[in-house]
Amino acid sequence: MASVFSMIVAGEIPCYKVAENDKFLAFLDINPVMPGHTLVIPKREVSYIFDMPDEEYVEFELFAKKVALGLKKAMPCVRIAEAVIGLEVPHAHIHLIPINNEGDMNFRNKQSLSGEEMSSIAARIASEIK
Ligand code: AMP
Repeated sequence: MASVFSMIVAGEIPCYKVAENDKFLAFLDINPVMPGHTLVIPKREVSYIFDMPDEEYVEFELFAKKVALGLKKAMPCVRIAEAVIGLEVPHAHIHLIPINNEGDMNFRNKQSLSGEEMSSIAARIASEIK
């Protein structure tokens, strides 16, 4: 069965997209730990990030870097933190999270923003990605 993220790639379920190219996609986490919390995924379904071949992994990180630079401009913060967890969704992904202190990176503090807020945040981030 396809992962929930592969269903997003296929357009079978919606997402708040912030960037994509032919290989990778970035969209808002549906339950952000901070506003602007973004997930970056390979479009190809690969379960575990560290199983990716080196070349693909490097390209993936470079795409995530581009997203992180735009995210920092769109959501003013001290740093964009990057995390890999992968316990919930078996499709490789990088979490990019705007943080001002260590406590902002709290995966037990998931939020739920309105669809309007999510759309507006996604559009703001997308407009800052070069
Ligand atoms: P993990 O696999 O532990 O890194 O966590 C998966 C993340 O994906 C969680 O932060 C979820 O909130 C997020 N998530 C799960 N389903 C969706 C979805 N349909 N759209 C956006 N984010 C999702």
